[in-house]
Amino acid sequence: MTHPEPHAATVLVVEDEPDIGALLGDLLESRGYRALVADDGRAALRLFHERRPDLVVLDLGLPGMDGWETLHRIRDLSDAPVLILTARAAEEDKVRALHGGADDYMVKPFGYEELFARLAVLLRRSRPVARDESRYEDADLVIDPVSREVTYQGRRVELTPLEYRLLTTLARHPRKVLSREQLLELVWDDPYAVSRDVVRIYIGYLRRKLGADVPIETVRGFGYCYRPRHRAAVTARTS
Ligand code: CA
Repeated sequence: MTHPEPHAATVLVVEDEPDIGALLGDLLESRGYRALVADDGRAALRLFHERRPDLVVLDLGLPGMDGWETLHRIRDLSDAPVLILTARAAEEDKVRALHGGADDYMVKPFGYEELFARLAVLLRRSRPVARDESRYEDADLVIDPVSREVTYQGRRVELTPLEYRLLTTLARHPRKVLSREQLLELVWDDPYAVSRDVVRIYIGYLRRKLGADVPIETVRGFGYCYRPRHRAAVTARTS
């Protein structure tokens, strides 16, 4: 029995076949990872909340909450990489998974060496990169990168990690039009892995959470622009 290193990455395996789940857990630990195994989506989300794994290996065919729903819920909580490991080999399933926020996709039966090589790539890519850590503030919007708190017109707004990154990226390029491709690159880190529609969908989430008057403009056929209101406008309104 090999013990994981103190700073070993924690991998959550979501797999309803007990033999495959146990095998993956043992293999991961033999390679120095910490392994958690869940046999359905609800158990996976509970473990995800409690243990904040660095990476998730997710089966699609699960009893109860299926892999699609589990992927969706994980994506709303975190940017942790998700590798789909499934018997489903259809291109439409792969595309749907990548559009849904999965980072990689492997079809069973699978080679262990390939799986571990892909896990290593995902972990390497997900290491935090240096981002602008200064506080952002305009007349309406305050973003505190240390606490990750967002306040809009004096009201605290709860954002998912992706929504937070999208808003921060727009606000840090005020009055500049960012194309969907630029946003995919800057926010999703990968212009090819997700559908362009995902930008429109997440802009919609931001407008819903911050309010319809949030100064994010749609530049038709091109992209989006954050146009902060002049500070004088606030002084006039509050005096
Ligand atoms: Ca299954």
